[in-house]
Formats: sequence, structure tokens, C-alpha cells
Amino acid sequence: MESDKSKLNPAYSHTDTSKVNLSDEDWKKILPKEVYYVARQKGTERPWTSEFETSREIGTYYCAVCGNPLFLSDTKFESGCGWPSFYQPVSRGSVLYEADNTLGMKRTEVMCGRCRSHLGHVFEDGPPPTGLRYCINGVVLDFEKAKEAEKQYEQKK
Ligand SMILES: [Zn+2]
Repeated sequence: MESDKSKLNPAYSHTDTSKVNLSDEDWKKILPKEVYYVARQKGTERPWTSEFETSREIGTYYCAVCGNPLFLSDTKFESGCGWPSFYQPVSRGSVLYEADNTLGMKRTEVMCGRCRSHLGHVFEDGPPPTGLRYCINGVVLDFEKAKEAEKQYEQKK
């Protein structure tokens, strides 16, 4: 999967941590329309449309724009809000935050720490241990199953 993507998108990598700085014009050429709309124009996908919303598969969620690891399936929970929800990013630097006061609301925008793509928002009504709810557009997530982790999980059952 990754090699297919990097042919079309030179910035895409699951391991490269260098910052990605492409112009919106470049992204428009590279990204599928719906990804561009959310990631670069701060759009929001319709609720209940992401296959990830109810997914319980074990693995890692990556930025669909640049491949940066964002969230682990362990930190995913069903919030009932209509979008994939997590209580914690993979690491401190995997996402960035910015105050968002649009639409008459005080919210905190969540962006990819590597390519600054818009991902969603974070709210303070999540479950322990963080009390946070990262409400993320599924269209800007790429999921990869953890093969080894899944095996161990299967054995424990
Ligand atoms: Zn990214």
C-alpha cells in the first residue's frame, strides 16, 4: 500500500519525520478530492460516513496526506458523535493544535504534526485517562492492521 501511495504522493511515508511543506496547489494535484477538502480546506466529512467510526480492528491510524502515525487503535473509543474518536495521539508531536473560533464556537483544531493537514477537533469530554476526545475525520486517516499485535490478541481470547 505504502509504495503505491508514494508513487503518487512523494511526501507519503510512515517513517520519515521531516516536515512536509507543499503548496495547496500541489496538494490539490496529489490528493483525492475528498481528502483535499478536509485536509487542506478544513472541511468536515458527513457524520456516520467513515468506515473507521465503528471499526475495532487493531493497528495504527496514519495521516492519509503524509503517512505520519497519528493514533493507535487502543486509544480509539466509540463516542457516538459520528466520527472516529480517540483519547490520545501516538505521541506528543504527532499532532498540532490551534484555537478555532469559527462557526461561533470555541474549539481546538487538531492538525497533523508533520504536514499540518486539518484532522478534526479535540474536546474535553473524553474518557480516562486523558479526558480528551479527538474527533477526527475518517477520510484523512489511513489504517494499517498490526499483524503481530493482532495475533497476540487472538491468542489471548
Ligand atoms: Zn500529515
